[in-house]
Amino acid sequence: MKRLAVLGSTGSIGRQTLEVARVHPDKLTVVALAAARSVGMLAEQAQEFGAGLVACEDAQALRERAALMGTRQIATLEEIAAHPEVDLVVVATSGLAGLPPTLAAIRAGKNVALANKEVLVAAGAVVTLEAARHDVQILPIDSEHSALWQCLHGEPRGSIRRLILTASGGAFRDLPPERLHGVTPEEALKHPTWSMGPKVTVDSATLMNKGMEVIEAQWLFGVTLEQVEVVQHRESIVHSLVEFTDGSLKAQLGPPDMRLPIQYALSYPERWENEQLPRLDLPSTRLHFGEVELERYPCLRLAREAARAGGTYPAVLSAADEIAVERFLAHEIRLTDIARVIDDALGAHEGITPTPAFDDIMTADGWARRHARAWRRDK
Ligand code: MG
Repeated sequence: MKRLAVLGSTGSIGRQTLEVARVHPDKLTVVALAAARSVGMLAEQAQEFGAGLVACEDAQALRERAALMGTRQIATLEEIAAHPEVDLVVVATSGLAGLPPTLAAIRAGKNVALANKEVLVAAGAVVTLEAARHDVQILPIDSEHSALWQCLHGEPRGSIRRLILTASGGAFRDLPPERLHGVTPEEALKHPTWSMGPKVTVDSATLMNKGMEVIEAQWLFGVTLEQVEVVQHRESIVHSLVEFTDGSLKAQLGPPDMRLPIQYALSYPERWENEQLPRLDLPSTRLHFGEVELERYPCLRLAREAARAGGTYPAVLSAADEIAVERFLAHEIRLTDIARVIDDALGAHEGITPTPAFDDIMTADGWARRHARAWRRDK
């Protein structure tokens, strides 16, 4: 029996993690839950799974609900992540809020199933160093990294030639580039193949999501930036590929459903049956691959530039993007301004390289947020 803590339990990945846990009551038990807001849903989840430990950013609202929830212990994210009753910590929070509990889990010797991109993008060096020091594993939940991880099982370290991430192209992949500036948040939230939270769906439309995945892949699999490539794949069936030194390619395929990579991170090193997961019907499956049009997706270039600069630059990339997406969703800026906000922040940032400390990362994150909030188009 694996005892889970699910941080970010009311978000898209958190809810799907609980769906998987519901199918495997003999293998998984949910002992701790945490959410930023949505206290009502958090309380219901704690009730259903009998989770004794809960955390919420809105601590006052949680205390008011705690009486209704029975005798539940209110904790911080770090206390949950390091708790002796927890075996595996699922980090499905959004933003840099996921970093302190990820480090707390690692330092307590617990494996982390990681769905939060910002943690590795902003603090990949710190996190991977701590994971090696404490001999714990970072188990990727993102579909692309889960695919790469599965393809790399049993392969010798030096045998990787390239990691090839697939990208659907997002909501505007067929829109003429000159019309991109006029799109609305509502249009951006219609992803062609995946159903996900709003931040990652907008990031998919700009390909910032893929840019961040390139940086994550570097940290997770210890390869150079040049070894990570992106190819457009419209159907989101091939989740990523590895090309080996002998020219052989390995890919992982499956219907676009996040419960599959989530379950794999939870079941690893086993594989479990799950009748609820969709199956791929090969005879009716068509696969298409193409080049990514870089002029359509400047965010992908910016992500590579930030990765190349290293140090605190990827943290600035991630934080500026988070604010820019927030401002786009609030109708304050255009979709095409997102790249301009990030570019402006990266240009103005006086980075700490090559190995920033935890505090440097938090400071860069805060600076980038303020910078991105203050950005005006007429500047
Ligand atoms: Mg992904």
